Amino acid sequence: MKVGIIGGGHNSLVLAGYLAKEGVDITVYEARDRVGGLCVNEEVFPGHTISTVATYYGMFRRQIIEDLRLDVHGLEPYLTDPAEIVLLPNGGYSFTPRDGSDTKISAGELTEEDLAGWKNFWGEIGRGAALVAPFYYKPETTQQELVDVLRKDGLDFLASKLFDGTLFEVFDHFCKNQSLKAAVATCTPGYASNQGSVFGCMHHGTAETCGVPGAWGLVRGGMGMVSESLRRSAESKGVRVLTNTKVTAIRVENGRATGLKLENGETVACDLVVSGADPKTTFSRLLSDTELPAALVKQVEEPLTQISAGKIHFKLKRLPKFPTLDQLSHNYSGIIVVAPPADEVIADSKRVAEGKMPQSLMMTMAFPTVTDETVAPAGEHHMNIDVHQLPRTNEGEPWNDETKTKISDAVIAALKPFAPDIAEVIEDTFVVSPTDIQSRYNVGTGMCWHLPMTDRYAFDKRNMSGCEPYGTPIENLYLCGAGTYGGGNVTGVSGFNCAKILQDQTMRVRA
Ligand SMILES: Cc1cc2nc3c(=O)[nH]c(=O)nc-3n(C[C@H](O)[C@H](O)[C@H](O)COP(=O)(O)OP(=O)(O)OC[C@H]3O[C@@H](n4cnc5c(N)ncnc54)[C@H](O)[C@@H]3O)c2cc1C
Repeated sequence: MKVGIIGGGHNSLVLAGYLAKEGVDITVYEARDRVGGLCVNEEVFPGHTISTVATYYGMFRRQIIEDLRLDVHGLEPYLTDPAEIVLLPNGGYSFTPRDGSDTKISAGELTEEDLAGWKNFWGEIGRGAALVAPFYYKPETTQQELVDVLRKDGLDFLASKLFDGTLFEVFDHFCKNQSLKAAVATCTPGYASNQGSVFGCMHHGTAETCGVPGAWGLVRGGMGMVSESLRRSAESKGVRVLTNTKVTAIRVENGRATGLKLENGETVACDLVVSGADPKTTFSRLLSDTELPAALVKQVEEPLTQISAGKIHFKLKRLPKFPTLDQLSHNYSGIIVVAPPADEVIADSKRVAEGKMPQSLMMTMAFPTVTDETVAPAGEHHMNIDVHQLPRTNEGEPWNDETKTKISDAVIAALKPFAPDIAEVIEDTFVVSPTDIQSRYNVGTGMCWHLPMTDRYAFDKRNMSGCEPYGTPIENLYLCGAGTYGGGNVTGVSGFNCAKILQDQTMRVRA
């Protein structure tokens, strides 16, 4: 039996690794010159291995590492020490060491009540995440079932806001401190003042690194090693991975997927086709000649949010000086977050939704060269910066090389209060704009997670109109990318669940 997998993102590679077995002939077709999609290493500065899009490791499920023996194939996640510091708007910080001791907080006037509220808030989010985590493997789960699971465990307020409220509302219920509220805003993929942000925060709460629940870390050799180890594992079992091989159409005959058309003019016959591309690419580009149910077409064409994200990489002459980090004898390893004031987060959530640049950038950054000597020549450094929210377009036009400087200039200006010498230490710059997510990394929707991670697209609502989990209206055509149940981030969950369904299907599929 022949299986054709569109795209070599990490989810496609997880699927390929699980499906590979004797008698199943699997080929992965990747448009770019390398696998990984948004979980990729690129040498954008000579001699530097840069995790150009995803950098932070935590969501990738341990069972996949064990089942596919990814350690043997080069995957080496690690925990940094310290774990994280959030730089707060008033010059304060929330500093999380790795030794298990309590987070150290300096946030202006901080009462015992604030601290207790902060602990209770995180206690409930952690409990909620642990309760929700097993349901990522049960694609039939509805949002209401998850709400009921939280309620049953006494998390009533959290349950009432999980899909219907905002992270700020939940925080306000526990704590009144505005600086800590700013820190919380950085812990969800969207804006903490928007509906769906509670689920986003719990989604991130399902992280685990090196056996430590809730922990995030980095990967030795760059985040792209997740994808590279998956490729090696799949190839060791006979899977063929073809890069520089773009699929231009899915061939459909009598309502059944029968093969793929490639950009090089070739047509390949397949018994089963699985797309790891986002729903827009799969349904509106690769199936443009196929009649699809009207409700599905309407959903695929629905405009998504204007709020996207970006990534900036600086090659450095030397490490910049962050006075707050120096005061704490911080070693510049781990995750460093810049949190704008909560009221500016609320104002920006409206501005960016209207397509305007945010006034205060929310940023997460790391200096992987401090902890991993394999990612740069000896003594050289780079820094990776996520800008959490950016408008999808630059005033209605796609971002281009010229306008991208607007993003890097804004980042430098926003970093200056925290690292006054930042501009002096930059030797080279590489920007991944929201437009690049579409054009360089082939995500048709332009979204980090293929579809938003909000209540509208969480759990059962992530299945496209009229589609079973991982299925499509076309017989023998399936989906395994981040736009399916399980959702975004480097989790491998979509590839894993799709493989479970197709392991049965590969027995039954009609040739
Ligand atoms: C700026 C940014 C920062 C992020 N940071 C993190 C992070 O730190 N940690 C984290 O866990 N997650 C992060 N994410 C999210 C995460 O990277 C993605 O959700 C995840 O990698 C998606 O994986 P995937 O395999 O489902 O899809 P993708 O990675 O999008 O893979 C799809 C693949 O299909 C290929 N493809 C598409 N169309 C075709 C075609 N026609 N023919 C052949 N190939 C095709 C693409 O080239 C791509 O390789 C970030 C995302 C962004 C945008």
